[in-house]
Amino acid sequence: MVECDFCGLPGARWLYVPQDRARVALMSNEGVVAPLLNDGRWRACDLCAQLVDTNDMAGLVARCLSTLRMLGAPVPDGGPDLEHVAMVVMANFATVLVGRPTKKTLQGRAT
Ligand SMILES: [Zn+2]
Repeated sequence: MVECDFCGLPGARWLYVPQDRARVALMSNEGVVAPLLNDGRWRACDLCAQLVDTNDMAGLVARCLSTLRMLGAPVPDGGPDLEHVAMVVMANFATVLVGRPTKKTLQGRAT
């Protein structure tokens, strides 16, 4: 099964391809620029697809963070560290949400 690029859980059924490619990079306090990697193709499960379609950024970020925790990733419990992680996730998701993504089913990828 294909993993969802938003929440990381298996069961992705949709593919979003932003028409406007955007690249996101983060600059740390020390001035180090770290580009976030994404290939411009976002696979989504049913639940995340619904959040993308309704432009529910807060819902997507909350879902991503809670599944990351579930999968054992070191997600901070709160405070500025959590805010930072949420900001990174949000910046990354923004590249697809604002990019006027086209949506198709993963199975129909040949078209
Ligand atoms: Zn998902």
